[in-house]
Amino acid sequence: MTNRPTSNPLDAPLSTLRGVGAERAAQLARLKIHTTGDLLLHRPRRYEDRTQLRPIADLALGEAATVRGKITALGTKRWRGGSRSVFEFVLEDGTARLHCRWWNLPFMEKYFHAGDEVLAYGKPVSLKPRTLDHPETETVEAGEENFIHLNRIVPIYPLTEGLSQRWLRSLVWRVLEAQEAHIVEPRPELKRPPADGPASSGRMPETLALPSRARAVRLLHFPERMSDAEIARQRLALDEFLELQLEIQRRRRALRANARGLPCAGDNHLIKPFLKQLGFSLTDAQTKVLREIRRDLGGAQPMRRLLQGDVGAGKTVVAACAALMALESGFHAALMAPTEVLAEQHFETFRHWFGPLSIPVELRTGSRKTSNAQHPTSNVQRPGLSNSATGNRQPATSNSLIIGTHALIEGGFDPENLGLVIIDEQHKFGVAQREKLVRKGSYPHLLVMTATPIPRTLGLTLYGDLDISVMNQLPAGRGRLKTFVRAADNLPKVFEFIRGKLKEGRQAYVVYPRIEDSDFGEIKAVTRERAKLEQEFAPFQVGLLHGKLAPEEKEHVMAGFRANRVQILVATSIIEVGLDLPNATVMLIENAERFGLAQLHQLRGRVGRGAHESYCILVADTKTEEARQRLKVLAETTDGFRIAEEDLRLRGPGELLGQQQSGLPPFRFGDLTRDGALIERARRLAKQVLDNAEKS
Ligand code: ADP
Ligand code: MG
Repeated sequence: MTNRPTSNPLDAPLSTLRGVGAERAAQLARLKIHTTGDLLLHRPRRYEDRTQLRPIADLALGEAATVRGKITALGTKRWRGGSRSVFEFVLEDGTARLHCRWWNLPFMEKYFHAGDEVLAYGKPVSLKPRTLDHPETETVEAGEENFIHLNRIVPIYPLTEGLSQRWLRSLVWRVLEAQEAHIVEPRPELKRPPADGPASSGRMPETLALPSRARAVRLLHFPERMSDAEIARQRLALDEFLELQLEIQRRRRALRANARGLPCAGDNHLIKPFLKQLGFSLTDAQTKVLREIRRDLGGAQPMRRLLQGDVGAGKTVVAACAALMALESGFHAALMAPTEVLAEQHFETFRHWFGPLSIPVELRTGSRKTSNAQHPTSNVQRPGLSNSATGNRQPATSNSLIIGTHALIEGGFDPENLGLVIIDEQHKFGVAQREKLVRKGSYPHLLVMTATPIPRTLGLTLYGDLDISVMNQLPAGRGRLKTFVRAADNLPKVFEFIRGKLKEGRQAYVVYPRIEDSDFGEIKAVTRERAKLEQEFAPFQVGLLHGKLAPEEKEHVMAGFRANRVQILVATSIIEVGLDLPNATVMLIENAERFGLAQLHQLRGRVGRGAHESYCILVADTKTEEARQRLKVLAETTDGFRIAEEDLRLRGPGELLGQQQSGLPPFRFGDLTRDGALIERARRLAKQVLDNAEKS
């Protein structure tokens, strides 16, 4: 329970309750239940409608049901010298007999006796005779407490060893009876009509539509109808979302009130020549986003902006222009990438772009510290200040663009004068990391870029503290991208197709998912595949890229692929983010059913970057028809948002974000995949709470 004074009875440790000794308290602690408040929020994992028990005679194969009967026979059979056993009892309810069996759990016989009245829940594994294997059971005890356990919808809780459903349910009942009055509305002000102002016409119909928190807690445990449990969940989820939104919005308001934005809007003296040498003109979407960024960079508060642009939309150029604005203004800029490979690629790109403008670009990763200034042999032209090739009035600036990976945060990176931090492929960073970086220096501006189109609900939760820009337009002149889903036995045909493309001068990626459960196994697997492909595609060259290669090796492989000395790049999903090679037009993904849709969309984004037609071939196991259906979404659309929505629905937020470190708090009741409306509501309510607090 949140924001409660410590004197609240709901914060009382459970050991203060009658009937909860040290041993029980320790068992409950294993379920993370420490206080009466925790107990009241212990969420049932399912409910059993004990007003509607199933007659044993009506049990159906594979259909879960609850029955009630008397034990008429029981016993344990042992064999193999007692190392194997089955304990079984027969339950009769007047309609038929039911066998309940437990394999290799001989101690179960301690818990049951002939004549016991038992409730059993499970799916019959056979009807001749009727049998449940390892059912969930509860022994009915004579006594006045049966009104808690029988003839009603009862909660079935997650348990731990030594606790019984019946005992825990009684405890919850007892605590609920005693403490219900102490369950207060966390935000009572939301229920009151505002005292004055134009909004005074309205109370909060949104909260009124849901039960009070106290009522919701009761319905969570003892619903009157099955639908009550869901209503209770929604109410409690709303409270969770509200707390999170309050935190996000408070942080935001604090930043607004306390942090001054550094003047980083620039004066165009670097951007102009940069755009002139670029070789293409910006798309309308890029121009629009840059206008938003420039306004932020010149604003009174530090920028906090998320740039969402589908794969290939051209976010890197936008990052470059944003960096130039900061550099023009006399500040350093930093660009962070999630992998060394991507940091290296950005380093190459930026020193190619910024070299002619005499802007120092530094690379700082875990394994390397390099700057273009230290690379006299590199092909980057570094014109002197006086005879600048671009003819601009370049100040003798020591400000630089620093490119790095996470190592930037971990090492002692804290340059003075850091004006702007750009984080590429944000979904790989946790919120905590993001915060850590931004606290370096004194509130630099922050631009985070992601190609994972975050569904709106998730965005509001994960990035509620950021303004969002969307780049929904790909640069013109891209060849078409076709996606196919193929069964594994079509591989020979697929290889033939790829060979044709290689002969036309194109290049290909071949990606394998994590096929073994250890890094080592995975490397062995891709190494094996590489050898196969080398034979298959000779004389074309096959390179290998995986996460465990030393940085120099990675660079070497990538350089070979960039220079087209290597035509096929075999890789683990390490290439998922950011790589940009227009001549690579074929992406073959094996065991595609093992990837999430959003991740496949990212992988697919590695091709279709040049003027040639591109192809993404998803090869999936023939046996899993369902998996192939799922993959068809990719063949049907290139709309990253639709794909991400689908992925969120199918796999949940953790998978979609690709990392456990999504930075989201664990929700006990909230469900990001379907609570969009609640999240919106929580956002509005949070704003109202904070507005009210500011007014008073
Ligand atoms: P992403 O948004 O996936 O990071 P990139 O920034 O890597 O995409 O851009 C993909 C490719 O498109 C790059 O080769 C880039 O140089 C090119 N590009 C970016 N903007 C434009 C544009 N306005 N016109 C043509 N090509 C562009
Ligand atoms: Mg990118």
